[in-house]
Amino acid sequence: WLWLIKDTGYYLMKKINIAIDGPSAAGKSSVAERLADSLSYVHLDTGSMYRAIAYYVDYKGFSLNDEEAILALLNETEMTVLNDGTIKVNDLLLKKELYGDKISLMASDVSKLLGVRKAMVALQQKIAANKGYIVDGRDICEVVLPDAEVKIYLTASAEARAMRRYKQNQEKGIESNYEDILKDIEKRDYQDMHRENSPLRQANDATLVDSSNMSLDETVDTILNLVKEKMEND
Ligand code: C5P
Repeated sequence: WLWLIKDTGYYLMKKINIAIDGPSAAGKSSVAERLADSLSYVHLDTGSMYRAIAYYVDYKGFSLNDEEAILALLNETEMTVLNDGTIKVNDLLLKKELYGDKISLMASDVSKLLGVRKAMVALQQKIAANKGYIVDGRDICEVVLPDAEVKIYLTASAEARAMRRYKQNQEKGIESNYEDILKDIEKRDYQDMHRENSPLRQANDATLVDSSNMSLDETVDTILNLVKEKMEND
């Protein structure tokens, strides 16, 4: 497996999949996006798929507690993930609307349902089957892509994650409160780590990357080095 460096990035001679799990706001999406650019790969953000379901359930006026109705709704729903990250749910095109605080918590609720997870995992596996994907989420290393060539558990302290989100909001001119963001992150961590179906945890064969004291560039470089090491050793 050759590792060639071009002006714009890196090229792997053999297509692989890179799985990245980790808690909310650990920077998985930004890191995955950058890796996809460097390697000319496609980024599959599985969180956005759960967010799209939460959005659709709410849009249809269903309660998040009505599991039976949600699963029946899913049965007649077609989801397509476009390469620019837009999620098509039947006729709805969703992207920006998926990132509000309300949808974040609703996605965490809806993702506890086994039927929802089964449908999403099957779709994610189908999408990534041809390799060449950076897939980020919570259960990627153990459930979605147990055969991914590179597996990462990307995390940072809850305080570092809350501070990053707070600064991002400031940059975007969105008013927010650090303490509220921290509470929200802690609540989602707890929900994601303590649910019955596919709780968030570091897989035995995943490499831990703690980005609490790293910039985005440093985090991307750390992971690119792990990919390089893996390629050289294979
Ligand atoms: O990553 P993101 O914050 O966008 O994910 C939204 C929610 O979807 C998470 O809080 C988590 O509960 C759920 N999720 C999941 N499995 C994944 C990706 C996300 O359960 N693979």
